Amino acid sequence: MLSWFLYKEGKSFLVIDDGNEHSASKSAAGIINPVTGRRYVSTWMIDEVMPFAVNTYNEMGTHLHSNFVFQKNIIDFFPSPQMRDAFVTRITEDDTYVHSYPDQNKFNRHFNYDFGCGEVSPVYTISQQLLLASWRKKLSTINSLLEEKFNIEELDVEKKGLRYQNILAQKIIFCDGISSMNNPWFNLLPFSANKGEALIIKSDELTIEYIFKKGMMLCPLPVQNTFWVGSNYLWEFKDDQPSEQFYDQCTSLLKHWLKVPFKVLFHKAAVRPATVERRPFVGFHPKNNNIGILNGMGTKGSSLAPFFANQLAQNLVYGFPISDEANIFRFSRILSK
Ligand SMILES: Cc1cc2nc3c(=O)[nH]c(=O)nc-3n(C[C@H](O)[C@H](O)[C@H](O)COP(=O)(O)OP(=O)(O)OC[C@H]3O[C@@H](n4cnc5c(N)ncnc54)[C@H](O)[C@@H]3O)c2cc1C
Repeated sequence: MLSWFLYKEGKSFLVIDDGNEHSASKSAAGIINPVTGRRYVSTWMIDEVMPFAVNTYNEMGTHLHSNFVFQKNIIDFFPSPQMRDAFVTRITEDDTYVHSYPDQNKFNRHFNYDFGCGEVSPVYTISQQLLLASWRKKLSTINSLLEEKFNIEELDVEKKGLRYQNILAQKIIFCDGISSMNNPWFNLLPFSANKGEALIIKSDELTIEYIFKKGMMLCPLPVQNTFWVGSNYLWEFKDDQPSEQFYDQCTSLLKHWLKVPFKVLFHKAAVRPATVERRPFVGFHPKNNNIGILNGMGTKGSSLAPFFANQLAQNLVYGFPISDEANIFRFSRILSK
């Protein structure tokens, strides 16, 4: 995202990325869901970040002759009468994103649900695999991609700039997800790693019109008849690998929920770069303003990353400010230790 905005500004940059197939971005459904929690409250800054994100993905699609963003509203099957009541209460308080669904029996042929359903809209899903592959290809063609592991021990921090192997640069910005937890410049930031898993399933009878939710999300993917199902949120975990426990939990849920056959194709797992106070980490190190970070997107990378990547690019190019709530300046004391 950052490289997209720097590219638009005509700035020179090099992306160093080892192309990890198990990164958070490649495991995610790419859903931009404007509400959260048991009370369906609007997510942080959604009125600003969602339109900005959709516009950015559309612009990238036009530039790369593809389509990365699709509106897929959520049909939320209430797991209990209490959750149905919470949804109805929310509609009376603020119906910007939550709406009653008129045809309560419409999904009976495909799903088991006992307590009715509501609609969350607008909701979008981003084809992240396709987007990342397309942008990577573009970066290669403009000689702006170095596909290898970055080794921080080889970074020479000089007064006027930075040297990495034979590369000289004014700035370095770490956008390396969970790896930043081990970066000597940023390991004091309050990260809070969160593991998530998902299954990719095939089902020939399910509609691709909506994202469906009951305990987990079932989200249509661009490959025909395939769906992403997830996720869980683990604050404590022993590794970043797919677990038998999630597989059993997810397949059991699907067997009770779906009335149509399905087949599991893949099982994914990754660690989200989440933060203790659920706000991103954006900006430059207080001890060296040539070293920056764009991270901490947590569970909301698809909506937050475009907005804050643009803020960081605008800060770099024009000196425009970064939002106080996201700027790592708020951790100056910790980072100056
Ligand atoms: C199961 C799951 C489901 C999710 N679903 C959603 C969702 O529906 N909607 C949503 O908004 N968010 C979702 N998220 C969260 C979202 O995926 C993250 O917020 C986002 O992907 C974080 O992006 P990132 O670029 O910061 O990190 P990453 O995607 O982890 O990218 C980091 C990159 O840095 C590279 N890298 C790291 N270290 C090095 C190194 N030393 N050298 C070279 N390269 C390196 C990696 O290869 C990788 O390409 C989900 C996450 C998970 C795990």
